[in-house]
Amino acid sequence: MRIDAETQLVTLLGHPVEHSRSPQIHNAAFEAQAINAAYVATPVHPDALADAVAGLRAMHFLGANVTLPHKQSVCPLLDELTARAKAVGAVNTIVRTGDDPPRLRGDNTDIPGFLEPLEPLHNRLREQPMLIIGSGGAARAVAYALLTTLAPTTLTLAARTPDHADQLVKTLAPHDPSDALRVMPLDEAQSAVQNCRLIVNATPVGMHPKTEKTPWPAADDFSAEHIVYDLVYNPETTRLLREAAAQGATPVSGIDMLIGQAAAAFKQWTGRPMPTDVVRAVLHGDYTKSA
Ligand code: NAP
Repeated sequence: MRIDAETQLVTLLGHPVEHSRSPQIHNAAFEAQAINAAYVATPVHPDALADAVAGLRAMHFLGANVTLPHKQSVCPLLDELTARAKAVGAVNTIVRTGDDPPRLRGDNTDIPGFLEPLEPLHNRLREQPMLIIGSGGAARAVAYALLTTLAPTTLTLAARTPDHADQLVKTLAPHDPSDALRVMPLDEAQSAVQNCRLIVNATPVGMHPKTEKTPWPAADDFSAEHIVYDLVYNPETTRLLREAAAQGATPVSGIDMLIGQAAAAFKQWTGRPMPTDVVRAVLHGDYTKSA
C-alpha cells in the first residue's frame, strides 16, 4: 500500500476496536482497486465522540464506520441522516458529502448488507412468518429491513429480556403497518421457531471463542422449510448453521452480511464497487488462522 500526501483516510470509531475486521476488508479493497486511501481503527472513548466527529470534518476524512457503543449517540453529531438510519436511530457509516464546508451524512449499511444474501431467496420468504432471536442494535436493523422489504405475516422477536424487545417494537411501529411485530420470551418460542420460514440469530451466542454454544439448542425444530441466518461471522459456519443444515435447512452466514455492509459503505466513499471476491479471500484466510 502506498501512503503519501494525497492518501485519503477512513477510520472506525468504536470502543474497543481491536477485534474489528474492517481494516483488513477495506485496505484489501482499496489496494485491489488502486484507490489511494487507507483505513485505520481508532478507539474513541464515549466522552470524546464529539471531538472525534469534529476531527473527521476538520481533517476532511473520506468517511468512517461506527461501532459499539457509538452507533446511536453519533446521530445528533452529524449533518444529515439517510431515511433508513433515521428509522432505526443508528449509524454504522459516515460519508463526507461536501468539502466547503465538509458535511457528514450518517447511514446504516447493516440494512442493505443484511438483505443482500437473501435476494435469491425472496420467493420463499415474501409474506411468510419470520423470527429474530435477540433485540439489540443488530435486531433493530434486521427487523426494519424485513418489515420494509419482505412484508412478513408475523415477525417474532424471541428475546431473553422481553422489555428490550418491547422498546424495539415501539421504535419500529411506524414501519409496521400490518402489526407483524410481536414479542415472545426466548424460552417460550418453540412453536414460533417450528412454524416460521426465516430464523435470524441477532445475539452473539456461538461467536469465537465460545463456538460450542448455540442460541437454539433444539435442532430438531429445524426443517427443510427453514432459512437460518446467523449474524455471527466468526466462525464462518457456527454450530447453529451446522445443525440447521443437517436438518435440511438453508444456512446463511453472517460473513455475507459483513461483506455486504462493507461493500455498501465502500461504494459511498469511493463511488466504486467493492471487489468482494478479494475481500472474501482475505477474511477466509483470517478465520482459518483464528478459529
Ligand atoms: P447488542 O446490541 O449488544 O445486542 C445483543 C442481543 O443479544 C441482546 O438482545 C441480548 O439480550 C442478546 N443476548 C446476548 N447474549 C444472549 C444469550 N446468552 N442468550 C440470549 N440472548 C442473548 O449487540 P448487536 O450489535 O445487536 O450484535 C449482535 C450480534 O450480531 C453480534 O454477534 C454482532 O457481532 C453481530 N453482528 C453482525 C453483523 C454482520 O455484519 N454480520 C453486523 C452487526 C452485528 P438482552 O437484551 O437480554 O441483553
